[in-house]
Amino acid sequence: MQTRLFIGGEFVDGADGATVDVLDPHDCTVLAEVAEARAADVDRAVAAAHDAFPAWSATPAAERGRLLLRIADAVEAHADELARLESTNTGHPRRDSAGLDVPRTAATFRYFGGIADKVEGAVIPVERGFLNYVQREPLGVVGQIVPWNFPLMFCGWKLGPALAAGNTVVLKPSELTPLTSLRLAELLVEVGLPPGVVNMVPGYGATAGQHLAEHPGVAKIAFTGSTATGRRIVEASAGNLKRVQLELGGKGANVVFADADLDLARNGSAFAIFHNQGQACIAGSRLALHEDIAEEFLDGFVELARSIRLGHPLAEGTEMGPLTSPLHRDRVLAYVKVAVDEGGEIVTGGKAPDDPALADGCYVEPTIVRADPASRVSQEEVFGPFVTVTTFRTDDEAVALANGTDYGLGAGLWTRDLSRAHRMARAFRSGMVWVNSYKRVGPGSPFGGVGGRAGARASGYGREMGFEAMHDYTEAKSVWVNVDAELPAWYPRPGP
Ligand code: NAD
Repeated sequence: MQTRLFIGGEFVDGADGATVDVLDPHDCTVLAEVAEARAADVDRAVAAAHDAFPAWSATPAAERGRLLLRIADAVEAHADELARLESTNTGHPRRDSAGLDVPRTAATFRYFGGIADKVEGAVIPVERGFLNYVQREPLGVVGQIVPWNFPLMFCGWKLGPALAAGNTVVLKPSELTPLTSLRLAELLVEVGLPPGVVNMVPGYGATAGQHLAEHPGVAKIAFTGSTATGRRIVEASAGNLKRVQLELGGKGANVVFADADLDLARNGSAFAIFHNQGQACIAGSRLALHEDIAEEFLDGFVELARSIRLGHPLAEGTEMGPLTSPLHRDRVLAYVKVAVDEGGEIVTGGKAPDDPALADGCYVEPTIVRADPASRVSQEEVFGPFVTVTTFRTDDEAVALANGTDYGLGAGLWTRDLSRAHRMARAFRSGMVWVNSYKRVGPGSPFGGVGGRAGARASGYGREMGFEAMHDYTEAKSVWVNVDAELPAWYPRPGP
């Protein structure tokens, strides 16, 4: 297991020699002691990325793409090992890490390998005699800060477009889940990525993360994490006015209309909230049911939730593992009390499972709560296997519910009426909308937040994935060439 910082192509100890205990969420034992990056280490990493930038940005885009394709191949070649490591560190059931996280990581690197040399500039029709062309140039050294919920996959999302566009990177994994990022760093060395092009500095947010966000040598900070930290990132970025991209929290509405295929909607809604123990920014954590089908839907949905098999992340047949940290488990369980205090009804779950084999871990039962849409549990991101339920009568009420928080990241709707599907997709203020489905992502499809309530932007701004992400990692440079234009008469001219 790799436990050291990755700077300038080498694995090194932190300057202060400090380490962070990384836990196994199944039983809260220490899995590894990982070197803790502090400010001096971040400085070294930024310097290494600066040294690597001239050669990397001048490397032909097709060659950068070829290296990204090799990274994709390396991820696939080590798929089983990476899935096990990710499951052990995060608690994701191996079914999910092997079936979703690792393949999606490989697919993302492959996609950006493919488009590295397809981001074209433009020739702009301008006044006669001038040629004006626009080319896209990399930004320089970019800082990337990722959370603990999908650590490996987010390395792909962040590194793919940044590297394809010719930037060099300092990436800070979460202090809780650095293990697959560091294993990926070893694979980057194996495929021949030049030293310093990617640097990894696991460490605490308040020290390493904050220093990276403030760093005057960093041209852009791409952040995925909570809304509160996002605000701090914006403040920290002000010193050199670095570009900021924010993928923040969510409170995904999942709206079931009376004409929906209820079996499909129940299964999709369970995936929407219980996949990855609900620790997903796009989780469908607010279920809104049409009055006419609410009870019928809920009966089957509660039964489905109770049937989910909790267990060790590596055990065959496990459908939900532990949450990723004890602190987070306590945070999620604290919301159960909030719900009850506010008059909500815990329909099922709301506690740790009774199974003694899971007693030392961060497990929480699938939890369904009837709650008022204005209550805290319906407005704040719980980020666990915790879904609120409410009902509506009209399409307008459904839209008001969907848009009734400060978040606006992902939303789902279930209906057999094609017109309603498109009407609702347009009306929901969220970056992604899924119709008769939930939580689909793909490397070519833009991913990011808008706001829910008018003016709110709690889900952040900027886009991951696709050409949108490539553009976010480049600057457009406009070049004007005087081909045969007459200079205007009022231009100063030489001579007496
Ligand atoms: P977090 O904001 O606590 O931490 C995220 C990362 O930021 C970690 O690496 C952390 O060390 C670092 N960090 C913390 N304080 C910092 C500071 N002052 N300066 C710089 N870096 C700092 O979030 P989390 O608890 O790790 O992750 C959960 C949150 O992430 C949820 O709110 C979730 O919705 C969000 N999330 C969003 C997306 C998305 O794409 N929109 C995806 C996944 C998770």
